Amino acid sequence: MKLPPKQKICPVCKKEFELSSDFFHRNVTRCDGFAALCKVCDNVRKNILHRKYRARRDEATSVKREKAKRAAKYHYDKSDYKCSVLTCEAKAQHLHHVDYDKPLDVVPLCEVHHQGIHFPRCNLDAA
Ligand SMILES: [Zn+2]
Ligand SMILES: [Zn+2]
Ligand SMILES: [Zn+2]
Repeated sequence: MKLPPKQKICPVCKKEFELSSDFFHRNVTRCDGFAALCKVCDNVRKNILHRKYRARRDEATSVKREKAKRAAKYHYDKSDYKCSVLTCEAKAQHLHHVDYDKPLDVVPLCEVHHQGIHFPRCNLDAA
């Protein structure tokens, strides 16, 4: 006689599932060979962790960016500069950072060319 399939209760959603790879991710490090959480809850948890990690990384970048901007503003007066694009005669309106780790490494650019760098898909040079 075939044994009935084992059941396992997911500790998060409290639902009972058949202990198989249909409902649980395989996890060889666990005694029953499957993850503790059901697939649905496992995915939700992973998404949350991922989002948290990404949010933290974005935050770190924006802190760096703000610092770099402040440093550049303090050291340079952008009204002294023209746009770095050779064919452009416009006044610089932005001090573009190539690398936020180098706060004083800036490229003065006009609004249009600065946008062009950050959103290279709209080909503003062609206009
Ligand atoms: Zn669950
Ligand atoms: Zn920029
Ligand atoms: Zn320009």
